[in-house]
Amino acid sequence: MKQKPISYQNIINNCMRKYINLIEAVEKGCPVATADIDINLKNRQNAIDNYHYGPANPDMPANYWKDSAKPWGVSEAIAKSMTCSVCAAFDVSDTMYDCIVAGIQGDQKTVDGQASINIADIGYCNFLHFKCAGSRSCTAWVSGGPIDNKDRTG
Ligand code: SF4
Repeated sequence: MKQKPISYQNIINNCMRKYINLIEAVEKGCPVATADIDINLKNRQNAIDNYHYGPANPDMPANYWKDSAKPWGVSEAIAKSMTCSVCAAFDVSDTMYDCIVAGIQGDQKTVDGQASINIADIGYCNFLHFKCAGSRSCTAWVSGGPIDNKDRTG
């Protein structure tokens, strides 16, 4: 089978589009990980590898919460209560939602980014710099969250 020729113009266009999206995000005051899925996934992998971010599937956590409880010296029930949704690094302010929605949409303005946020309870992790899910957790958890409109200082 004959291989399709590589379109260097498409590659250049995609790179330029990605670069422009990043510049636009930074100009709007948005974290780059909200505008670039590759940066987001790289930072998320760091959270998984080094900060026990998980569980991979909150509906099927296996031993995740048992393992989470050990370093804190708490019960599994307490570990289960220490989710991103109540972490002081979890930003669910309207300002951050605007950034996340814009990043999910990219150039596809018919995409409903807010629906993804609602279903997965997505917020932005200020400590590890990626979009995390409210039902997960990690070892960097801090009590007192989430960050809402009233908490933002800028
Ligand atoms: S620091 Fe908080 S918001 Fe960030 S991944 Fe850990 S528990 Fe979630």
